[in-house]
Amino acid sequence: MPPKPQLPAANTPCPCGSQKPLENCCQPFIQGTANPATAEQLMRSRYTAHLLLAIDYLWATWSPEQRLRSSQADIRAWAESCDWLGLQVIATRQGGASDDKGTVEFIALFRQRGQVHQHHEVSQFKKVMGKWFYVDHLA
Ligand SMILES: [Zn+2]
Repeated sequence: MPPKPQLPAANTPCPCGSQKPLENCCQPFIQGTANPATAEQLMRSRYTAHLLLAIDYLWATWSPEQRLRSSQADIRAWAESCDWLGLQVIATRQGGASDDKGTVEFIALFRQRGQVHQHHEVSQFKKVMGKWFYVDHLA
């Protein structure tokens, strides 16, 4: 098993690339003290959660249908096998505070077994009872 990454201090720039401090960006969502208002905020916080190995958060923000197809151990194995190098959000459709669904297109860079990979995805999100969930990817 690869070593766990060092947890960044709360005032370091958020790993999601927002240029905001972690404590004013993804951390409150991951710690459960606030809910993401937009699909993009959830997407960014899920990226950061991969970095921080916040597996409970990744699990809790997945749609129930997706949870049937995987396990927390699978998510942990995937997150731990990668060095997360950066996130670029390319486009969002809907997913605003007043929407109940939306998509976010992004590229995540990561290193796995010495190779740098680009994960390009269009993610689908839905809002249920006021909370955003990650549904699936379109591409
Ligand atoms: Zn962030």
